[in-house]
Amino acid sequence: MTEARILSEITARRDSLIALTQDLIRIPTLNPPGRNYREICDYLAARLGTEFKIEFIRAHGAPGDSETYPRWNLLARRDGTAAGECVHFNSHHDVVEVGHGWTRDPFGGELHDGKIYGRGACDMKGGLAASIIAAEAFIAACPDFKGAIEISATADEESGGFGGVAYMAERGYFDPARVQHVIIPEPLHKDRICLGHRGVWWAEIETKGRIAHGSMPFLGDSAIRHMGAVLHEMETALYPMLTGKYTAMPVIPEGARQSTMNINSVHGGEAEPEEGYTGLPAPCVADRCRIIIDRRFLIEESIGDVKDEITALMERVKAQRPTFQYDIRDLFEVQPSMTDKDAPVVRTVAGAIEKVLGKHAEYVVSPGTYDQKHIDRIGKLKNCIAYGPGVLDLAHQPDEWVGVDDMMDSAKVMALTLKELLL
Ligand SMILES: [Zn+2]
Repeated sequence: MTEARILSEITARRDSLIALTQDLIRIPTLNPPGRNYREICDYLAARLGTEFKIEFIRAHGAPGDSETYPRWNLLARRDGTAAGECVHFNSHHDVVEVGHGWTRDPFGGELHDGKIYGRGACDMKGGLAASIIAAEAFIAACPDFKGAIEISATADEESGGFGGVAYMAERGYFDPARVQHVIIPEPLHKDRICLGHRGVWWAEIETKGRIAHGSMPFLGDSAIRHMGAVLHEMETALYPMLTGKYTAMPVIPEGARQSTMNINSVHGGEAEPEEGYTGLPAPCVADRCRIIIDRRFLIEESIGDVKDEITALMERVKAQRPTFQYDIRDLFEVQPSMTDKDAPVVRTVAGAIEKVLGKHAEYVVSPGTYDQKHIDRIGKLKNCIAYGPGVLDLAHQPDEWVGVDDMMDSAKVMALTLKELLL
């Protein structure tokens, strides 16, 4: 009875869902540098202000925060008529650069064949819109709910989340005494519950040499040749070992169910000449060479072990090269996070997926990280998942889109989740 009423409230909001998603896409919240964060928060405040209490939170002093590009976040809260638990939907409002290859206007929000196109359509303005429609439909159908519903739209997820969820978590917004269930509508697909993500370690490795004239390289010491030895050791020893590390985490796609490492960049010797420079380079032996590595690790590994592997590798190279000197500099690290399959939010969303889609939920883990890391580590809140419409492969791609039917189904799952937890 109640369920039917909630579902029909969602069905009646199809046009509203489309318009909302289009409006959100049309506000180009590009990050970097962090454009239009205030505009999107103002838009959401106007939309939610009649039903929700609105709070604007600027992450003063966070990386990238300035008077030109202030890091604005929005929190909307609706209290029920009695005490109870708080369900929080958290979406990031920033989007990544457009890139090349688009055949649609990346900020046009075009609707075509049931798909809405634009940068951020699936990652994750479609998910934000679905959660708003879910909350509005639930409140209309069941105004006497207990507990509270929160919707946040947060900054900078695409650049680490420090001016967004991390900032709020540090100020207690995700304290388990305040919020009991968190759903992050990232585009993992409407029938999947994402329990967490792998860990990350970014580091810069530098080899050192000695500059000399390129016609007499024996008088110098090439940092590039030293780095070549490092890369060779990675190919022959490290990569085969990483492929052998397999995780019990249900990471998708399958290839990410192992430890992986990307080498993001190599820079050695003279700086690249400026564009348009027509002169020749100077003949010099490279006195330094740097690479940046992006190592993704598993819940079965510790960050200490991951770092020790690289140090051991560098020491092996050093043992074979008398003048070899190196530095390793930590850039960024994230611990893996995985919510228990029996956690209340997981069980509830799984039940709602069965009701709406008539199938069992699939449990997955994301290959890359998202804001769950801050809710888990800083907020100390373990009852957190990612669940939302859209196909992850489309994120950050040209002609990104989100399906209207997928958003509708996800909104139904979210609304039935609210019913289960708040009635
Ligand atoms: Zn995202």
